[in-house]
Amino acid sequence: MAEPLVDGYGRVHRDLRISVTDRCNFRCTYCMPAEGMDWLPRSEVLTFEEIERVARVCVERFGIDGIRLTGGEPTVRAHLPVLVAKLAALRVGGTGPPVDLALTTNGATLRSVAGDLVAAGLRRVNVSLDTLRRDRFVELTRRDELDHVLEGIDAALEAGLSPVKVNVVVMRGVNDDEVVDLAAFGRERGVTVRFIEWMPLDADRRWSSEAVVSQAEIVAAIDAVFPLEPLARGHEPAERFAYRDGRGEVGVIPSVTRPFCASCDRIRLTAEGQLRACLFAVEEVDLRALLRGGASDDELAEAVRACVAGKWAGHMIGQVQFVRPPRSMSQIGG
Ligand code: SAM
Ligand code: SF4
Repeated sequence: MAEPLVDGYGRVHRDLRISVTDRCNFRCTYCMPAEGMDWLPRSEVLTFEEIERVARVCVERFGIDGIRLTGGEPTVRAHLPVLVAKLAALRVGGTGPPVDLALTTNGATLRSVAGDLVAAGLRRVNVSLDTLRRDRFVELTRRDELDHVLEGIDAALEAGLSPVKVNVVVMRGVNDDEVVDLAAFGRERGVTVRFIEWMPLDADRRWSSEAVVSQAEIVAAIDAVFPLEPLARGHEPAERFAYRDGRGEVGVIPSVTRPFCASCDRIRLTAEGQLRACLFAVEEVDLRALLRGGASDDELAEAVRACVAGKWAGHMIGQVQFVRPPRSMSQIGG
């Protein structure tokens, strides 16, 4: 029987986000700078065996039942399906069901890797796509890859990944005029779109509260064209809405205007093996030092427990107490 991973506020943690690399083949303006990222030396990045060991402790001892691979761009890590196969073999509590394994990707190389990832045991995918206009895509990602991303979404559907979700970061004056078009795209392709409020984790530090397009605005824009009705919120951070005509659903992740910290069940492992109890945490627990210093599974488990026990109530974006973490989104793992 797994021990629940509970923090001081009674929140039980079941979801582990693993960043497999800090590198990326895009340079999205809301995440990375155009140039000048200092990549981690390869020796500092956890090996697949080290990642598997941390995941095993979390899944078998603490009943973590969801793992999402992220980055940076996870598909730029060589042999990613090898890691997927290792994680897909984990059983919740040691003998329970397999872990629910998902991936967040920019989709640019999904055409070539989706089949191998599914064969290795990947179940679900979120593809980031913030615009359907080629010129805007180039401005936003600093790469001319829109066609490849669209092909990647099709490839994910064809490979049997389910559900396929599309993540859209909405920014005022940048792509907020495309909210309805992106919702329509989701309805047509049979993919669930998740609009995300822009968070202050961009390396360029251009974020401002004025640039955040709120959930209320996003929902009002969609509802005016495709009427919506709210659905019950599950464990996930998205607030979900069904299209009243029965053509699927759409979600909004209102990290800034309606934070979901009170029900947060996530922990994060960075590419270099730092465990974070919150996306906005300013403190980390160095699991890599333990892994490479010969620590036992019991010692690793104790470090995970201590990290979660010290979790704060929530980030305080918009309040005077808010402290921006020194790392950007791609370095933490979104
Ligand atoms: N490279 C992959 C991708 O873009 O999907 C995975 C890593 S990315 C950091 C994970 C998610 O975080 C993406 O959906 C991305 O759009 C989102 N993201 C990045 N920077 C963000 C920010 N400042 N605010 C909100 N979401 C952000
Ligand atoms: Fe890369 Fe994803 Fe960040 Fe874009 S959001 S720069 S694709 S890590």
